[in-house]
Amino acid sequence: MKSTFRSLILAAFAAGLTSTVSAETPGKGTTIHLGSHKAGTQEEIQKLKKGDHYALVCMECESMTVKEAADDKEGEALCHDGGSVHCDSCKKKFTIKSSGPAGKGSTSKKVTYVNADGKPCMFVVPIKK
Ligand SMILES: [Zn+2]
Repeated sequence: MKSTFRSLILAAFAAGLTSTVSAETPGKGTTIHLGSHKAGTQEEIQKLKKGDHYALVCMECESMTVKEAADDKEGEALCHDGGSVHCDSCKKKFTIKSSGPAGKGSTSKKVTYVNADGKPCMFVVPIKK
């Protein structure tokens, strides 16, 4: 039985059916789909528009805060070099650093959130609908 179940799961993943059940944020009913992944470049973060949900993952306190973009500029603010982002959980402030390009063949800037020591401590995960 076990192996059958396992192969079913594998088949589901292989078929790209990753948007099944996962975490629900309290109150708002936002479903965080499996397969949402880190936005590490300016281009990806800027895609966040008003009403979009995203998660701020803080590695400092190992928490995840789900937020809703209040306006279209929020994505822009999240990759503004020299700006700052707060963690709602540990109340720490991180500095936004954009450097770039992110990698070979990419023209988009890489965005990181660093603590006072310059160590990357946070990342943004846009939540797919
Ligand atoms: Zn934190």
